Amino acid sequence: MQTFALVTGGSRGIGRAVCVKLASLGYSVLINYKGNKAAAEETAALVKAHGVSAAVLAFDVANKEEVRTVIGNWQETNKESIIEVLVNNAGIRQDTLLMSMTDEQWDDVLDTSLQGMYNVTKQVLNPMLMHRYGRIINMVSLSGLKGMPGQVNYSAAKAGMIGATKALAQEIAKRNITVNAVAPGFVKTDMTEELNEKDLAKMIPMQRFGSAEEVADLVGFLASKQSSYITGQVISINGGLYT
Ligand code: NAP
Repeated sequence: MQTFALVTGGSRGIGRAVCVKLASLGYSVLINYKGNKAAAEETAALVKAHGVSAAVLAFDVANKEEVRTVIGNWQETNKESIIEVLVNNAGIRQDTLLMSMTDEQWDDVLDTSLQGMYNVTKQVLNPMLMHRYGRIINMVSLSGLKGMPGQVNYSAAKAGMIGATKALAQEIAKRNITVNAVAPGFVKTDMTEELNEKDLAKMIPMQRFGSAEEVADLVGFLASKQSSYITGQVISINGGLYT
């Protein structure tokens, strides 16, 4: 049986680094993306360089039907394979104060992170339960732990994912499936491109943003067999910004 890791939002940023890390651990990788096919193909080439297989899967995690169809078709045509590791990483920001937030900004952010996590996990969970082994890692944020002004939507989405992580971990621990969340602070990616790193770094004890690879190393550990007794946890990775 071939074991796969599915990484949502694997085309760029943290998701790409996670795909490469999981490939280095021997996993074949399913790289999900929403619109950026060229970037997803680049990730696939980086994954294949580790001698494992890679496939790109285009779907919008927020679209339940699309998720069911695309992952369902893959499962149907790959009956001898199992998704053993799921990283719910896809996420977006639409920052503004609540008083000026549009319904669309609220919905888009919640639908991508929180609803997206539900849609993808639902599709992958049953085979994982039958397999009696698995790793689910949810990419949350410091914002979901402490709340950030200007990010009521994003903070709510990530806090919702944290609650779901803790609840699901307890439901499926007996089947050797762990569910954990990773909560980065500021990480250098397209998402933080327009932020002023020099100014913001002053409030970070380590005085710098993190790299996608540093986050991927943590995800790699949580995805490995070595993390077998850790479940239902939120692990922060933020240069000491918040404890
Ligand atoms: P990024 O560089 O903006 O990349 C976002 C990724 O998510 C892309 O691969 C994008 O695909 C994908 N994506 C977005 N919406 C999607 C959808 N509806 N369906 C499927 N894929 C979708 O972001 P990042 O900084 O790597 O962030 C990754 C995760 O870490 C997010 O959940 C984010 O909230 C979290 N996080 C980031 C930071 C940070 O400082 N960067 C801090 C805390 C938490 P396309 O390429 O196709 O657009």
